[in-house]
Amino acid sequence: MIIGAHLSIGRGYPAAARQAGRLGLNGFQYFTRNPRGGSVRSLPDAEIEKFKQEVQRQGLKVNAAHLPYTVNLGSVDERLQQFARLVLKEDLKRAAAVGTPLVVAHPGHYGEAGLERSLEQVAAVLKTSLKDAPAGPCLCLETMAGQGREIGGRLEELAYIIDLVGPEVKVGICLDSAHLFAAGWDMGSREGLDELVAAIRASFGWERVKMMHLNDSKTARGSRRDRHERIGQGEIGLAGIRAIVNHPLLGRLPLFLESPVDDYKQYQQEAQLVREQVRGNKNENSAPNRGL
Ligand SMILES: [Zn+2]
Ligand SMILES: [Zn+2]
Repeated sequence: MIIGAHLSIGRGYPAAARQAGRLGLNGFQYFTRNPRGGSVRSLPDAEIEKFKQEVQRQGLKVNAAHLPYTVNLGSVDERLQQFARLVLKEDLKRAAAVGTPLVVAHPGHYGEAGLERSLEQVAAVLKTSLKDAPAGPCLCLETMAGQGREIGGRLEELAYIIDLVGPEVKVGICLDSAHLFAAGWDMGSREGLDELVAAIRASFGWERVKMMHLNDSKTARGSRRDRHERIGQGEIGLAGIRAIVNHPLLGRLPLFLESPVDDYKQYQQEAQLVREQVRGNKNENSAPNRGL
């Protein structure tokens, strides 16, 4: 099982990889730049080399990069479109340089021009930006809670974008358990998860799905409100997390925790708790190790 967590690269890429290893994770996700900002520092070749070595040494299997929230792929504003294209280009290039295979983006928000116009805009930006992108990283659109004017709360919206982008450009999908739950999916039972998988197969297809943000939800199913909760402490609950990690398709995805932790050490406990839910795992019935 690949289980990572969202970590800061504020002290550099190699330090983040070391931290992931220390926390007992075998992958991690990071913001490519300040999530609420835009600028990015230059990345020396020596740091890239050190990072790659550290990824090997720590046994990290899959890392993911997350684009900043300030990127709105669905904006019809020319200035915001330019920014989105610039960030996509730079951050995919950087992901390729450091060896990160998955780059996650929120589909964005729509404005006065309406949802359909924005979906077309997302597709247009992806089509032009990904055409010349370096080989390697896969840009994944995230499933969202569908809060307000957020794009991506319905699978159909993502399928529509992917259809418009066309077959020459490969777009992946990042599931988010808390977002899907808030968007109305039953994430708490095998039947519910099978229903979700069937709907995915009927829309953009399962092969698009590359990863999952494994989060519990503070808000109720169908609330369309995006509020993450610690694993097992929210509305999805530990039984739901167990259903997810034991699902034959969902449980095989690289999983990344984005819990509202006070301290990264809590990610270590959560990852351990998640592993214990896997049936057949010898630790299945043991209590989570609170001493970690
Ligand atoms: Zn996200
Ligand atoms: Zn979220």
